[in-house]
Amino acid sequence: MRGGLKIFTLLLVCVACGVSTYQSGAAKDAEKGDTHTYKAEVGKMLDILINSLYTNRSIFLREIISNASDALDKVRFLYLTKPKSPKNDAGKEPTMDVRILINHDTNELRLIDGGVGMKKSELVANLGSLGASGTKQFWENINESTNAGEELSNLIGQFGVGFYSVFLVADEVRVASKNDEEDKQWMWESKGDGKYYLYEDPRGNTLGRGTELILKLKKDADEYLQEERLKKIIHYYSEFINFPIYIGYSNKEDSEEKDGKYNGYDWELVNVIKPIWTRNPQTVEKGEYVDFYRGFSKGTDEPMYYSHFVAEGGEIDFKAVLYVPSKLPNNAFNVHDDSSYKNMRLYVRRVFITDEFKDLFPRYMNFVQGVVDSDDLPLNVSRELLQENRVLKTIKKQLVRKALGMFLEITKKDDEIWKEIEETNDKELQKKKMAELRYPDFWDEYGKSLRMGLVEDGGNRLRITKLLRYRSSIYPFEYNKLVSLEDYVSRMKENQKHIFFVAGEDIAKLSHLPVVEDAMNQGIEVLYMTEAIDEYVTSSVTDYNGFRLVNLALNMAQPVPSTEQEELLKEKREEKYKPLIEWFGKLLEDLKVRSDKIVLCHRRTARPAIISSPKIGTTANMARINKGQTLGDHGHKTADKIVELNHLNPIMDEIYRRIIVDENDEVARNAALLVFETACLESGFEVEDLQNFSDRVLKVVYQGLDMGTDQAMLEEDLSQYEVESTSDASQKNEL
Ligand code: ADP
Ligand code: MG
Repeated sequence: MRGGLKIFTLLLVCVACGVSTYQSGAAKDAEKGDTHTYKAEVGKMLDILINSLYTNRSIFLREIISNASDALDKVRFLYLTKPKSPKNDAGKEPTMDVRILINHDTNELRLIDGGVGMKKSELVANLGSLGASGTKQFWENINESTNAGEELSNLIGQFGVGFYSVFLVADEVRVASKNDEEDKQWMWESKGDGKYYLYEDPRGNTLGRGTELILKLKKDADEYLQEERLKKIIHYYSEFINFPIYIGYSNKEDSEEKDGKYNGYDWELVNVIKPIWTRNPQTVEKGEYVDFYRGFSKGTDEPMYYSHFVAEGGEIDFKAVLYVPSKLPNNAFNVHDDSSYKNMRLYVRRVFITDEFKDLFPRYMNFVQGVVDSDDLPLNVSRELLQENRVLKTIKKQLVRKALGMFLEITKKDDEIWKEIEETNDKELQKKKMAELRYPDFWDEYGKSLRMGLVEDGGNRLRITKLLRYRSSIYPFEYNKLVSLEDYVSRMKENQKHIFFVAGEDIAKLSHLPVVEDAMNQGIEVLYMTEAIDEYVTSSVTDYNGFRLVNLALNMAQPVPSTEQEELLKEKREEKYKPLIEWFGKLLEDLKVRSDKIVLCHRRTARPAIISSPKIGTTANMARINKGQTLGDHGHKTADKIVELNHLNPIMDEIYRRIIVDENDEVARNAALLVFETACLESGFEVEDLQNFSDRVLKVVYQGLDMGTDQAMLEEDLSQYEVESTSDASQKNEL
């Protein structure tokens, strides 16, 4: 499967060896053929593994059991369409399980599975090099994390380098493997020192089919020869492996396994094999769900949330356990390359089919992980055909609904907690309850994904809209309260017609915008949108419950609608101030503001002017985002401006008085330009002519200090510093 990804194929010259007298599987050096070397990175990887994982060595067992389980899954799947019954040299059939054997005399731990096994070329490709994509990701992640231990143990399984963990506990590793497509059983052998041997297994075909790992344990790793220790580790990591795992106990003095028959052993089943999703949710403990999650995500984190669905009696029966990971998985969105990220395991009647269907969830919901099992899907068709199956399509659709329902459930639980918080005055209790809130973390981690969903998944738009959360002007920032559109609408003022929002870089900036000040003065709540995608999303979600979402940064936005009388007043007022508006139009012509974009301000603000945006055009926020996205300075649109003049502001009034007397009044011109430019900055726009703007501001500073503006630079008297002159300046520089 991953073999195709390996970029590195070793030149292989192998001397096959037919001697079969070595029952243990070990061959004399001369019989092992040539030495092969790993790719350099593998050696480096081994060093890192061995050094930094030393305290967490027991993960090797998790890794090799999970490989065995994968190999068994593959057989089950392959045999659905092409059943076979292979036998070993002694005529015995392999079993669909994992067997662990301990040899105290030789210090060897052995693990035998009846899985697909590996062909000779696969032993090279799979154990002799690392998956290219896996390696790259692995290094990127290691370089980022300094706290290597725990992190590494999580990464190992995720990036397909699990097998190498055997060298944490073993000095020497042999892997015998038999695949149905080849007659011979092969042996791979390495001391984890960058070299390996590959030769025909001198014992012949002992496995029939499958893989046997023989680990010669390091002196200080003999704890893994104790059954109790092994059982504990299996319970911890591999409880929910879907195949039986047995430990063999010798019941005779001379227990020995001959010809692949395990004579003289008693077998103890270690794991529970009833899959968790087939059980009644009422009977499954939280800890079991967490363990199960850890098992298949190969991590140690607890999930943020989970849900177990049993959809029965409807059109289609299926069972699913879905998890929200505590963090957005590293490579969740690399679905188009060969990324090793696998979020969902698909079973049909408890038979594992695949974890490679990347589209069980739409892209934006790829962070959800879990299993789904259905009795209504056909077992004996290829994965390609299955992917096209109508029932599967219905299941996909339902899975998305279920997942969205699960997110909504988190918000409902949080609502309950908020009720309790708001009902009490006990600060301590409030604090405690706030710590129980789950959705803020969810929204932090996955809010961006869901917003993508609004754009991509039209069919579920309303469902996703219910999950949107924002901060708003009525809650202080520290309060950590997220507001839904539903909350907003329920608090709207009687004469309020729209849902108002502003979009920008951060809440501190947004909350000081003049347009927000105006709305708040009139008792109107304002939603703050701070993600780059937010404003874009409002073109997909244009309204909620019949209320339009209106950006206050637009000139037409009016927090409180005007009465008829006010409309009449407006007309008269515009008549009176026409000279001011026309004068401003001429003044700003050079600054890329069209003269028809100057209007009187209808907002309640103390500012002399506000800059807003036309309904169709680029807002300041959009221009800022576009600029961040385009490389270089070309091609991004500058924001469109509308200048709103506030005739009730004394400065504006003074400008008006002056220019009706003399339209060339220099003081008025300068003041007007400064008013315009500061308004630009304050409303989140750029100032086009920064140089002149600075000159104008400095002029005002001189005036404020009662100084002339034509001051020359000062001459400095150096003697006041008493520094001796030195002839050897270059030497000083060097020091
Ligand atoms: P991963 O399991 O993530 O692919 P590993 O390093 O654990 O990475 O294993 C590398 C590959 O070696 C596997 O993908 C599989 O092809 C092969 N392999 C390992 N163990 C077994 C096994 N017991 N039976 C068959 N193939 C195996
Ligand atoms: Mg593995």
